Amino acid sequence: MARVAFIGLGNMGGGMAANLSKAGHEVMAFDLSQDALARARTHGCTVADSAETAVANADAVITMLPAGKHVAEVYRTNALLNAPKTAILIDCSTIDVATAKAVEAEAQAAGFTMVDAPVSGGIAAAEGGTLTFMVGGSDDGFERARPFLEQMGKAVIHAGGAGAGQAAKICNNMLLGATMAATCEAFVLARKLGLDEQKFFDISSKASGQSWSMTSYSPVPGVGPETPADRDYEGGFAAALMLKDLKLAMEAAEEAGAYTPMGGEAEELYQRFVDRGGAAKDFSCLIKMIDDSWEAPAGSEAPLPPVTAVE
Ligand code: NAD
Repeated sequence: MARVAFIGLGNMGGGMAANLSKAGHEVMAFDLSQDALARARTHGCTVADSAETAVANADAVITMLPAGKHVAEVYRTNALLNAPKTAILIDCSTIDVATAKAVEAEAQAAGFTMVDAPVSGGIAAAEGGTLTFMVGGSDDGFERARPFLEQMGKAVIHAGGAGAGQAAKICNNMLLGATMAATCEAFVLARKLGLDEQKFFDISSKASGQSWSMTSYSPVPGVGPETPADRDYEGGFAAALMLKDLKLAMEAAEEAGAYTPMGGEAEELYQRFVDRGGAAKDFSCLIKMIDDSWEAPAGSEAPLPPVTAVE
């Protein structure tokens, strides 16, 4: 069993660290939030009083942080200075490709092996140990990271070199954002044309318009398998996180010189939905803004004109 430093014990990291502890590793946990640390302690982790203490003597350092700036800070000011060079460094956060590549290059220059390993799957998958990991880095880095990732997930896929995990993650989520937006539009149009939504689902889910957004994650309550739509769009994948991933995809597209008009349109739609108070709702709740039935909660950002009147 190994000594694992786990930094970032929020919604996702909390469950992931708990699974490593359950698997028998000695998990040294660190987070800026005392609540997160208290939860980690109840799940068998040892709480470190600083990131320095957490990474000293670690066989593996795993981070699950909000964004690129947090990842860069934790590695530049801590892990790369205080962890043993023999430790495998694994960043599971979803961050921009450019920062992922830059931090991995710095880690390599400092004598470490590092991989980016963002995840697909939400809080329930983090707790249940059923995440999918997409890993960017060398063959050796992948093989060293794999045993730890397997204890937190159901699938671990080597996507390519440094940054390839992040690239796979944002391309996938850009596709998801665009197909969900298109699925919402199609359901709304079908209804306005007098088509029964269940009939439209029965036909389109077996025809060329089908996608995961329709068959596995229908945005219409009571249609298809049970989804967040059946729970008033609570739980699931928050619209704010979809917007974050779409912004990362658009940033990467600009840097790479890729033309991504559908991704851009999806980003705009989710931005509008988040501005109108939808941040915490499941991303399929976008359908309410598209059919104009979304009521912005009191206290949310300035009311915008109905979406049908914009542009
Ligand atoms: P979160 O905000 O719940 O947790 C992040 C944690 O990092 C917080 O507890 C925060 O205190 C801690 N933190 C921030 N800066 C720190 C620092 N310098 N040192 C130590 N701790 C620090 O976020 P989350 O939902 O757990 O998401 C984490 C990452 O996983 C994000 O990149 C997110 O995009 C990605 N992700 C989330 C989901 C999801 O459903 N929540 C799904 C897939 C991927």
